[in-house]
Amino acid sequence: MKKRLVSGITATGKLTIGNFLGSIKPSISLQNEYENFIFVADLHALTLPINSQELAENRKSIFAFYLACGFDPEKTVLFFQSEISEHSELYWLLQSATTIGELSRMTQFKDKARLKQENNTEKVPTGLLTYPILMTADILLYNPNFVTVGADQLQHLELTRKIAQRFNKIYKTNFNIPRAIISDSSQKIMSLTNPEHKMSKSSKSKNSTIFLSDTPEEAYKKIQKAQTDSENKIYFSKEKPGVSNLLNIFMGFTGKNKEESLLFFENKSYQFLKKTVGKIVANFLENLQEKYKENLVLVEIFAKKGAKKAKKIASSNLQKIKEKMGL
Ligand code: AMP
Repeated sequence: MKKRLVSGITATGKLTIGNFLGSIKPSISLQNEYENFIFVADLHALTLPINSQELAENRKSIFAFYLACGFDPEKTVLFFQSEISEHSELYWLLQSATTIGELSRMTQFKDKARLKQENNTEKVPTGLLTYPILMTADILLYNPNFVTVGADQLQHLELTRKIAQRFNKIYKTNFNIPRAIISDSSQKIMSLTNPEHKMSKSSKSKNSTIFLSDTPEEAYKKIQKAQTDSENKIYFSKEKPGVSNLLNIFMGFTGKNKEESLLFFENKSYQFLKKTVGKIVANFLENLQEKYKENLVLVEIFAKKGAKKAKKIASSNLQKIKEKMGL
C-alpha cells in the first residue's frame, strides 16, 4: 500500500515563492510515490480578518495554482478544507487533549499576537491561538504517514504528533505519528527586505514577498532590491541572512545542493547573485502564469472530484474516532 501524505496552504492571501518551495514543490515531486491529500486551508484563513470576496478569490486562485504548478488530480486528491465538514468536527474533539499553555507557546501565535497588540487593537482572535488544533485535525483526519511542511511549520507539526500520541493513549485510537518531509529545497524562505523574518503572504511590506502572481518584471525588481550586507562575499551564514536567503531561493528553483551552489557563485559579486536569482524566478513565473490562466476554468470540476474522494475517507475515519471516544 502507498504511504499517505497530507499538506495544505492557508487562503489568507496570494501564494508566495515560499509556499511554492516549502510546500507545493516537495509535495508534487512525491505524487507518484505517495497517496497525496492536498487542500486549500480556507477555514484557517478566518484566523485573521479577511473580507469574503477576498477569501473567495484567494481560495480559487490557490487551487488553480496547485493545478498550474503540476498537481495531477488523477494522482493527488485536491480539495477545499471547508467542503469537508469533518475537519471542523475533529477540531472540536481534539481540543480536549490540548492545553492553552502549549498553544500560547507556539512561535507563530506569539509573533502574530504581538503584531496585533503593537497595532494597538489588543484584540487577539481566538482562532490565532487554536490554529494548530485545526491543523492537527486537517492532518489526523486522513491518518497520513507524512506531512510536507516548510521549516516554519515544524513546531506546529510537533504539537500534532503530541496530540496524536495523547489520543492513542487516552482513547486507543490508531493514529500514525506523522513525520515531516522537509528537504534542502524547502528551507524557510525569508523576507527580502527583512531576512530575519519569514516571507509571508500577509506581509505589509510590498518588496518583501514574491507572489506567484507578480509579473516577472516585478519579481526581478524585488530581488534586485533585496537586503544583503556590505561584505560582497557569497556564502551561507547566520550572520548573512539576506545572502543565505537568495542562495536558498537559487537552490530551491535549480535543484542544486549547497556545494554546487557555492561553486556556481565562487568569486562572484552580489550583483551577479541578484541578477541570476532574479532571472530564474522571472522565467519560472512567466511559464507558471500561462498555465495558471488555463487552469482557472477547471477549478470547480476538479474541486468537486477531490471533495468526493476526501469526504469518503474523512467521514469513515471520523466515525471510528468518535466511537473510540464514546460518542
Ligand atoms: P501558509 O502560507 O502559512 O499556510 O503555509 C503553507 C505551507 O507553505 C506550509 O507548509 C508552510 O510551511 C509553507 N511556507 C509558507 N511560507 C513559507 C516560507 N517563507 N518558506 C518555506 N515554506 C513556507
